[in-house]
Parts: sequence; C-alpha cells; structure tokens
Amino acid sequence: MQYQAYSINNFRKIPEVNRYLSKAQVGGIELVGNIFPFKVNNYIIEELINWDNVPDDPVFRLVFPQEEMLRPYHYQQLRHAIGTGLEAYLRYTVRDIRLQLNPHPAGQMDMNVPYFGDACLDGTQHKYDQTVLLFPAQGQSCHAYCSFCFRWPQFVGAKDMKFSAHGTQDVLQYLKHNKQVTDVLITGGDPMVMRSHILRAYIEPLLGEGLEHITTIRIGTKSLSFWPYRYVSDPDADDLIRLFDDIQRAGKHLSFMAHFNHPAEMKTAVVRTAIQRIRSTGAVIRTQAPLMRTINDEPKIWADLWKKQVNEGCVPYYMFVARDTGAQHHFGIPLTSAWSIYQKAVQRVSGIARTVRGPSMSAGPGKILVNGFLELEDQNAIVLSFLQGRNPDWVNRPFLAAYDEEAIWIDDLRPLPGRDEWFWSKEYNEMCVSSRYAVER
Ligand SMILES: *Cc1c(COP(=O)(O)O)cnc(C)c1O
Ligand code: SF4
Repeated sequence: MQYQAYSINNFRKIPEVNRYLSKAQVGGIELVGNIFPFKVNNYIIEELINWDNVPDDPVFRLVFPQEEMLRPYHYQQLRHAIGTGLEAYLRYTVRDIRLQLNPHPAGQMDMNVPYFGDACLDGTQHKYDQTVLLFPAQGQSCHAYCSFCFRWPQFVGAKDMKFSAHGTQDVLQYLKHNKQVTDVLITGGDPMVMRSHILRAYIEPLLGEGLEHITTIRIGTKSLSFWPYRYVSDPDADDLIRLFDDIQRAGKHLSFMAHFNHPAEMKTAVVRTAIQRIRSTGAVIRTQAPLMRTINDEPKIWADLWKKQVNEGCVPYYMFVARDTGAQHHFGIPLTSAWSIYQKAVQRVSGIARTVRGPSMSAGPGKILVNGFLELEDQNAIVLSFLQGRNPDWVNRPFLAAYDEEAIWIDDLRPLPGRDEWFWSKEYNEMCVSSRYAVER
C-alpha cells in the first residue's frame, strides 16, 4: 500500500467521507480541526474504520475530531470568531483556546528538561532516574493523529510548544555523565515516521563506547496501528529490521512500546506480519494505551485487546488515564470507573496478560496508580500509589484519597479529612521550584 495522508484541508476528498458523513458532520470536523490537529491516512480509512458503524466506530473516534471535544463556550467562541471573517481575530481566538487547554501537562517543559552545563538539553526529558526520553526533530509527527493526543501542541505548529533534538552529540555527553540511566526512550510524535537511516543516526551512537550502562533502547510508537507497512513493504522496511537486529547484536535490549487502543487495530493481516517481523529480531513488543471514553471504555474491549496481544507474543504493559490536557473533559473517565473497567478486564485474562498495570495517571509528581477502594469506618477511600515518582522513594507507598466518583485526575482528589495534603505534596512543591537533573558540562 502506498501511504497517502489527509489533513483538515483535503479530507473532503476521501470517498468514504463523502459517502458516509453528512454535511453537518463534515462541518463539525472542520470546526474542531481549527483547534486540534487532524491527520488520517488511507490504511486507516480503508482497513480499520468500519464505515457502517460511523460515527460510533472506535477507530473513527480515534482519529476524527468530534464537536464534543470543544467545551460549549469554546465552541461558541470559535464559531463567533469564524463568523466575523477576520483572519487575525480567528488566529488570536484559536491560540487563546489552545492555551486554555493546558498544552504542557505534568511540568514537561519546566521540570522535565534537564540542564547540561548552563543550558537546557533540548529535545530530551529526564523525569525518572533510569529513563531519558529523546525527541528526534524529524520524528515529531505521526502517521495519523489521535483525537485525544496529549502531544497535540507539537502538531499545531506552535514552535514554543515543541520538543525536538537535532542530533545526539549533547545527549550522548549527558548520558555518559548519568550512569544511573539504563533506558533511552525514543519518542515523539512517532519516531517511526523517520526514515530508517535517520533513526539509525540517533540509535547507533547509543550502542557505542562509554554507554555500557544504557542496556535498553525503547521506541514509543503508534505505527503498528497507523501504518504497519513501515515494517513490511515500505522501501526501507528491511533496513529498519536490520537496525533492530543490530541493536540486539550490540547486546542491548530493544523494547518496542506499541500504542494500541482497540482490538480493531489488530485485525489486519499486515499488522500481524509487522509484529512477527519485529519480534524476529529479538525485540520485545510491549503495549500501552490510554482509557478513553467513547473509544475503549468497556472491560471486554481491554480483555480482547490484551488477549490478542499475548496471542501475538506482545506483553501488555500500561493502561493510562486520559491526561489533563486537550479534550480531557470529553475523553476522561472518572477514576473510580477507570479502576472498575481495569478490574473487570483483568479478571477475564490469564496471569500472562496481567503484566499490564493501570489505571495510571502520568501526573506532575509521577505515575499514579489507582489501586481500588477501601471502606473505612466513617468514610470510603480510594487507594493510590506511585508506579514512578519524581522522588523514587515515593514509589509503591499506598496513600488514600477521599472517595470521589467524579474525579478524573489527581488534582480533583483530596486527602482524607483531617489531612490537608498528600505525603509527597511538600517535597513536590519544592521540586516545582528547582528539581531538574543537572550535569556539568
Ligand atoms: C512513563 C514515563 C517513563 C517510563 O516509565 P516506565 O515505568 O519505566 O515505563 C519515563 N519518563 C517519563 C516522563 C514517563 O512519563
Ligand atoms: S500516536 Fe501518540 S503522539 Fe501521535 S497522535 Fe497519537 S497520542 Fe499523539
């Protein structure tokens, strides 16, 4: 299949859009497309979306913008701005709305970018001891965009909202000085949009001398779902497989972190072939996804997804909660329901698939897991713990929040009555002033 992408400017040319969507639906996509990025490709259109099931089809909802993604007052504001016909006013309104949607959740810009010498190490994040994230400049887009994307500011062209690394010289120096780092996670966007030789230029130096402590290369990607031909029939697919082989040959583990939201994304023959090719190199495919209202908010969907993944030799890894950015008000699910969905799903699968941890919030202080509920004498509580913490010592210490069926994020929760803060609040607040990893040049 030859890759063909569509954006907000030309999606009306897609035959299925003309055939199955009403004028009003097309108008809605156009409207929301002013705020959120939109991109889809021919594989998703032809192979993944069941058009008879639109607009309820999960893969349709996964990529096509929906009017409910805008809060009513933003919706009105935007319609008004368009109505004036004033280009500059529209641009101002769009930027204003975007800035209200918390474009950089979890302190990504202010707290995660490490210092190297007296400057920030561009295109990297270092939040947890063992793992450094690398954002190659050429990998800051995707084969299509998820409607709920938490990196959406990267794709709407706002330069000051973008992470990107050009080359690896400084990153390598930084890593050489940071011996506790074992994992480099190459991410984006989607690094698999890069041609194989460019990806190789980022990865090969990580296999070299002085970096023996880097034992795992991770690649975070949605390409298995959005463009599996990357591994099968793209012109440089074989080069890519050779690169994966070379990583193992250098004695490193390649962990391929695949993002799948719904079993429908695993139904084609080509995705299974792609999985087989990747696994044939010795790489391990670990899978992760956020739990999203209207897309995958049923236990059976998750159980089916994990079963399919295990069946293909993949390892279920994380179930996330919709992050506090973008259209979280539309896709978010109360934490109590998220836990119930996880709990009901996990009991449908054998222990082999219970490697998956969740539901987990990637929040400022760390990855916070919802462990379930407790009935205390005078009130009910939600049991939380850290899977990863800005302070590693926070990890795995259970802590309690007052039971709340509406909370969709840690910020909505409160400690039990009698306590005015979390055990980690004070330390975290101090970290917000200065907490970054820093290495002398
Ligand atoms: C999730 C995450 C990691 C990786 O955490 P693991 O639990 O090792 O998978 C690293 N850095 C950031 C910023 C993360 O959010
Ligand atoms: S694959 Fe990831 S980065 Fe790309 S659009 Fe989806 S959520 Fe965003």
